Amino acid sequence: MPALAINRDRLWSDLMTLGCLGATPRGGSDRLSLTDADRDARNLFVHWCAEAGLAVTIDAMGNVFGRREGADPSLPPVLAGSHLDTQQPGGKFDGPLGVLAALAAVRAMNAAGIVTQRAVEVVNWTNEEGARFAPGLMGSGVFAGKLDLAATHATADRGGATVGAELARIGYRGAAPCGGRAVDSYFELHIEQGPVLEAAGRVIGAVTGSHYMLYLGLECLGENGHAQSLPQARRRNALYGASRLVAEIEAIGDAHAPAGTASAITMDVWPNNRINIAHRAVFAASVVHPAREGVEAMEAAILAAMARIADETGLALSVVSRMRRDPIVFDAGLAEETLRLAAARGHSAMPALTRPGHDAFNLSAICPTALIFVPCLDGVSHSELERASLEHCAAGAEILLDHMLNRAGRAN
Ligand SMILES: [Zn+2]
Repeated sequence: MPALAINRDRLWSDLMTLGCLGATPRGGSDRLSLTDADRDARNLFVHWCAEAGLAVTIDAMGNVFGRREGADPSLPPVLAGSHLDTQQPGGKFDGPLGVLAALAAVRAMNAAGIVTQRAVEVVNWTNEEGARFAPGLMGSGVFAGKLDLAATHATADRGGATVGAELARIGYRGAAPCGGRAVDSYFELHIEQGPVLEAAGRVIGAVTGSHYMLYLGLECLGENGHAQSLPQARRRNALYGASRLVAEIEAIGDAHAPAGTASAITMDVWPNNRINIAHRAVFAASVVHPAREGVEAMEAAILAAMARIADETGLALSVVSRMRRDPIVFDAGLAEETLRLAAARGHSAMPALTRPGHDAFNLSAICPTALIFVPCLDGVSHSELERASLEHCAAGAEILLDHMLNRAGRAN
């Protein structure tokens, strides 16, 4: 059978149209999970699913599935998708590309009149980003049995709104159970969010696995006092101690670059007003390295810096939470298949590792999973300046389509 064509202009127009929901001044999107803008994006996705003849199901986590039935509905389906939520602000491609390319693949099957053996489902996972509700990879985490549904519904944002209540508010707390069903395989197309493909001049990345990741929740405790009258020598300013550690963490990242990265990423300060010396700062650091020893060396350096700063300032610095993620290893056969499919379509390709987490991490725990990368301009992502080309998006969608057809064509 000749290779099916993706309607690349439609894919591009879908990406640009969806990007207008929560549009930001510099060409990005602001669609934090379960906000009105996220609801609008979901509604448009559901509309496009119905237009493509898909049967839409919404589960208890608000994950949205558009199903194209197969010849044998009893066989576990092939899933393909990603997420429609963004950071604040984010770009037009991180997430939407994987969802809309899967939709484009289904439209190509429709146009060719293909009946697959297995059903194919296009999926939008809830709260991939974790920018509003932590942790990220939330909808896929519950689906894969890694997160508890009730605890996840009770998770609150900084303003106290919970996932469960916000799902209900925007009309996406669905009736279908979340997960607990067999899935044949999962495919996710995503921009690389790094510079490797672009530098190598390759169009397709066959992702074989991920890096080591460490998240450290940190706290600095000092003493409150009047910001204008407390003698300098008696000040125990928690903001100062935290800031010194922030600078140290950045220097530790610099020392392990380019393979390693380390940065402080958030900070809350109490009481955070103009007339009090801060008595408490809570902040966090993200550490990533391809090797376990690299992460361990950076963590040891951070702990040493904490001890030194505490010693020099009299402030109390501590690690209050610690989350470590060992690398994911994706299905090797599917990653090799990505390289073969790319060659057959005439797209240059190479094996790749991902630094960020993706919903594919969770799915890989329950079914054979492939993550496929295409380049983004200068490796920039989580930014309004995130850009990817029509040609690269379409090439990735072709590989996604070929994977879906291969898997969905299987009778057993
Ligand atoms: Zn993403």
